[in-house]
Amino acid sequence: MKLPPFDYACPTTLSEAVALLAGDGDAKALAGGQSLVPMLAFRLLHPTRLVDLRKLAELRGIRIADNGVTLGAMVRWREIEDDARLATAHPLLKAAIAHVAHYQIRNRGTVGGSVAHADPAAEMPGIAVTCDAEIAVMGKSGRRVIKAADFFQGPLMTALTSDEIIVEFRLPSWPKARRWGFQEFARRRGDFAMAAAAVFYDQDASGKATNAHVGVIGVGDYPKRLPAVEDVLNGQVVDEATIAKAEAATSASVEPQDDIHASAAYRRALVGTMVERALKNAAAR
Ligand SMILES: Cc1cc2nc3c(=O)[nH]c(=O)nc-3n(C[C@H](O)[C@H](O)[C@H](O)COP(=O)(O)OP(=O)(O)OC[C@H]3O[C@@H](n4cnc5c(N)ncnc54)[C@H](O)[C@@H]3O)c2cc1C
Repeated sequence: MKLPPFDYACPTTLSEAVALLAGDGDAKALAGGQSLVPMLAFRLLHPTRLVDLRKLAELRGIRIADNGVTLGAMVRWREIEDDARLATAHPLLKAAIAHVAHYQIRNRGTVGGSVAHADPAAEMPGIAVTCDAEIAVMGKSGRRVIKAADFFQGPLMTALTSDEIIVEFRLPSWPKARRWGFQEFARRRGDFAMAAAAVFYDQDASGKATNAHVGVIGVGDYPKRLPAVEDVLNGQVVDEATIAKAEAATSASVEPQDDIHASAAYRRALVGTMVERALKNAAAR
């Protein structure tokens, strides 16, 4: 289907881009176009203007420092995949991004686009919530930093205002000895997750789990951490018995809806299995 008509702007500075969005409440930022263009084609959006972010140098680059990993909003999936440093700097991120979409989409789709789009079944928002990411945004009132837990508010709904542009995405540093796992079930490799789980924990001197983080994707309106499951893990050796309790607590903690892909009961069981497998991977590392 042909796209609806819109004006197009391709600013070269962030302040110009913000001014373009702030000056027109119906304008939309354009990053990789992999979610926005289909929405235009299906006439789900009718923006008056697209503000292309591709020339904004401030939105580019992957930086790795002692305090963590910073991804510019215009970092594409392919760049994450190709950056060998991330295998140690943030292995959970790298493992999750391996599940995003297909080759062509991975060459165009961006971190900022995925986070702003906020699909409940997308991997990057799930990693953001699980890993306590911070999302730095710029709007007409200046720059602010939003915690991932406050950013996602519903399916395709976020804390962003219409004039705000995501500038970068920050993940806290990743200790080398951390145990982690990522598991996803999709109908075909590269499809959105029917359910997925991202988990990590550290271990104290006696081998018991501390700082457990358990995040689930595709089983609610937006990705969430599951405190009840984290409580099952913290202070315990992550063995078969603990993992079985965590699996049961996961299924009891989520409230998925029936949809055309699966029943709520199926998704509830599936996400428990994803957490179980991710924890087994984590324990075996
Ligand atoms: C067939 C298909 C399969 C896919 N499978 C997956 C999958 O398995 N997992 C997955 O996670 N994704 C999947 N995607 C989505 C893909 O990853 C998209 O690239 C991503 O969701 C959006 O990124 P984008 O850069 O293309 O953003 P765009 O499509 O350009 O923009 C998406 C939205 O974000 C806004 N936006 C973009 N950048 C910014 C910014 N910096 N600041 C503020 N707002 C911004 C836009 O205005 C728009 O509302 C799939 C897409 C397709 C077409």
